[in-house]
Amino acid sequence: MKKIFLLFSLGMVLLASVLVGRTLLTTESSVEPPERLSTVTVDGEAATGRLARALTYRTVSRPYPEPQNPATFGPFVEYLKSAYPTVFSRLEVETVGGYSLLIRWPGSQPGLKPILLMSHMDVVPVIPGTEKRWRHPPYDGVVSDGYIWGRGALDDKSGVLGILEAVEVLLHEDFFPSRDIYLAFGEDEEVGGQQGALQIASLLESRGVRLEFVLDEGGAITRGIVPGVSGPVALIGPAEKGYLSLELSAEDAGGHSSQPPPVTAAGRVARAVDRIQSNPFPLTMEHTATFIAHLGEEVSFVQRMVFANAWLFGPFIEQLLPDNPALIAGMRTTVAPTMLAGSVKDNVLPMEARAVVNFRIIPGESVASVTARVEALVDDERIGVEPYGFVSEPSPVASTDSFGYRMLERSIRQVVGDPALVIAPRLVIGATDARHFARIADASFRFLGVTLGPEELKGFHGTNERVSVEGYLEAIKIYYRLIRNAAS
Ligand SMILES: [Zn+2]
Repeated sequence: MKKIFLLFSLGMVLLASVLVGRTLLTTESSVEPPERLSTVTVDGEAATGRLARALTYRTVSRPYPEPQNPATFGPFVEYLKSAYPTVFSRLEVETVGGYSLLIRWPGSQPGLKPILLMSHMDVVPVIPGTEKRWRHPPYDGVVSDGYIWGRGALDDKSGVLGILEAVEVLLHEDFFPSRDIYLAFGEDEEVGGQQGALQIASLLESRGVRLEFVLDEGGAITRGIVPGVSGPVALIGPAEKGYLSLELSAEDAGGHSSQPPPVTAAGRVARAVDRIQSNPFPLTMEHTATFIAHLGEEVSFVQRMVFANAWLFGPFIEQLLPDNPALIAGMRTTVAPTMLAGSVKDNVLPMEARAVVNFRIIPGESVASVTARVEALVDDERIGVEPYGFVSEPSPVASTDSFGYRMLERSIRQVVGDPALVIAPRLVIGATDARHFARIADASFRFLGVTLGPEELKGFHGTNERVSVEGYLEAIKIYYRLIRNAAS
């Protein structure tokens, strides 16, 4: 008995040392000395005013193949030309699709691969009836209380204008890039990007352009958003999830609801939806494990231990973690039934019933593997399973050791003075225009250097969208530093 106890204790000690050892080994040292350079001269007030004015153009996009509204997109592009005269007169500017812009700043060394900085000009609509809930009208471009208010302030005109501000300053400083720098501003990111980003990417591909890296929206400098971390955390997206909606449909003879078949078309579809939803996709720990490792000692030892030892804790991870949908979304293909339709009347049997389920696919899985899993789960030959709307595969995952990530990391550190700053790669759970460039880019990153707290985060596609003036000016400086770091 004593021997067994001794063996058991020895086993526990061994296990504990493995767990602790792995935890410490995988924890990245997060605190690096900040390397601040003399501040860039950006005329803060003028730059703020230019962004505020940009928010007065109602560039709400229409889905492909409808052309964008000439009454809003035309004047918006004209405005950009007048606000950034040096960019538009000195660099090579092409219009792609209807209003999308591709701008090339030629580099001096043709052997170096170009980089591409991108953003989108379009915005999502303000939901009718919610205008009154905005503290300042969504299209007035108000600057107040240290914020620039309006639809598009975060998503994504601060990206468009921020990039242009940085390039305008660099041109005035007579900076000449070593490698080609492309700027790409799409007109329809919010509705799939077919007229903007996709066409720009195809055009570059037809010219044989191969990009060192692409930088799009999708990450930011967060404060008070990553649980347990009090200082700023710059989240850089090295990958994004794929997008797929599947329509499940069933047909039936219909008739009077007083004499129904054992399962109606509506019941059949409901059963299929339930089978999909009650069988969650397997967890993929690696993206979150890398993220947690980069947060370093900011995160509790227990949390780090759990992720560093996913081989052991994997099966129980959901019980160990707080109920946090955003955290779980970073670890698996998510399932969201969103649309349902059956009979038009309560006492009429449906002749057709339909449901749409939206999936966000984790890198490593694919549209085909998700569809196959769904068909196997539904296991009902009377249910049709068809793709619905736009489809996109998960992106490749860019390395944190790559040139682009290192340059981005360096640029952020040079601008953000807070010694508590942590920079970490975080899988983007939504879709961005960057995915259209996957075929021609060695790496893609999703990051816009604005600062977001929990309140600002609600502004994305919501009410009271706003960006802090200070955060916007930092974003400009990060673009500025990035161009100098990556193309000097
Ligand atoms: Zn966006």
